[in-house]
Amino acid sequence: MHNAALAELGMAGDWSYEAIDVAPDAFEARVRAMADEGFAGANVTVPHKGAALALADDLSETAREIGAANTLVFANDEVRADNTDAGGFLAALPSPPRGKRALVLGAGGAARAVVWGLLREGAEVSVWNRTELRSRHLCEELGGEPAMEPEGAAYELIVNSTAVGLAGEDPFAELPLARDAFVSDQVVVDMVYGARPSELLVAARAEGAAVVDGIEILVRQGALSFEIWTGRQAPLDTMRSAARL
Ligand code: NAP
Repeated sequence: MHNAALAELGMAGDWSYEAIDVAPDAFEARVRAMADEGFAGANVTVPHKGAALALADDLSETAREIGAANTLVFANDEVRADNTDAGGFLAALPSPPRGKRALVLGAGGAARAVVWGLLREGAEVSVWNRTELRSRHLCEELGGEPAMEPEGAAYELIVNSTAVGLAGEDPFAELPLARDAFVSDQVVVDMVYGARPSELLVAARAEGAAVVDGIEILVRQGALSFEIWTGRQAPLDTMRSAARL
C-alpha cells in the first residue's frame, strides 16, 4: 500500500516502506538504530504500540491521550510518536458520528483509539468487553459508559474492535450481537480484516446496515501516517487498490 503510493507520486527512487519483524526485548534498540540508518519514520503494530509511546522523546496529544503510538517520526535525533488509528477510523466512517449512539466492542488498543475518536467527535459511547474490568477501566480513563448486555438494535453505530473473527471465531457466539439484530439505518464497522468479508459485516449488510471493513480503516490510518512522513497528500485510491489486492 505504501510502496504503491510512493510509486504513484514518483518517490519510489528515494523512499521505500519495509516490514521489520522485531522481538519486544529488541524493540527500543531497533527503533533507535533506524533513525541512524536513514529511516524517516515507522508504523508500529501489536505488540509494540505501548513501547513505542514509552520510548518517544516527544508525543502528539492524540498518542498521549490514547496511550498508544502507531506512527513514529525520526527527526533531529529525536523520536516523535503519533497515533493515526483514531483519525483513520473517523475518516472511514460514512458520516460524522456527532450525537450518535455508538457501541464499541473491545477494550484493547484498537478500542481505545475508537472510543477516544468517537468521544472527541461528540458521539455517545457505550463500551462492552469480554473482560468487564477492562471496559470499566477504559471508560474511567477515556470516558464513555460500560455496557453489560447491550441491545444491538439500539445503536446507530456498532464497532467491533475486538480480535474476534481474526482466527475464524464466530462473532455471534463471542460477541453480544445476534445475527439478525442489525437494522437498516445503522453503520457497522469491523476493525478485523482478512481475505474475505467478515461474518459480522455479511450479516449486517444482509439486514440493510451500512458497513465499513477493516481494510478501509487500515488504508485510512496508513494514509495519515504517509502524510506525516512525506508531507505529501496520500493517493487514497492507489493505496486502497493495493491493500485490497
Ligand atoms: P488487543 O489490544 O490485543 O485487544 C484484543 C481485544 O479483543 C480485547 O478487548 C479482547 O478482550 C478481545 N477479544 C479477543 N478474543 C476475544 C473473544 N474470543 N471474545 C471476545 N473478545 C475477545 O488487540 P487490538 O490491538 O485492540 O486489536 C483488536 C483487533 O483490531 C485486531 O484484530 C486487530 O487486527 C484489529 N485492528 C485493525 C486495525 C485496522 O487498521 N483495521 C487497526 C488496529 C487493530 P479481553 O480484554 O477480554 O481479552
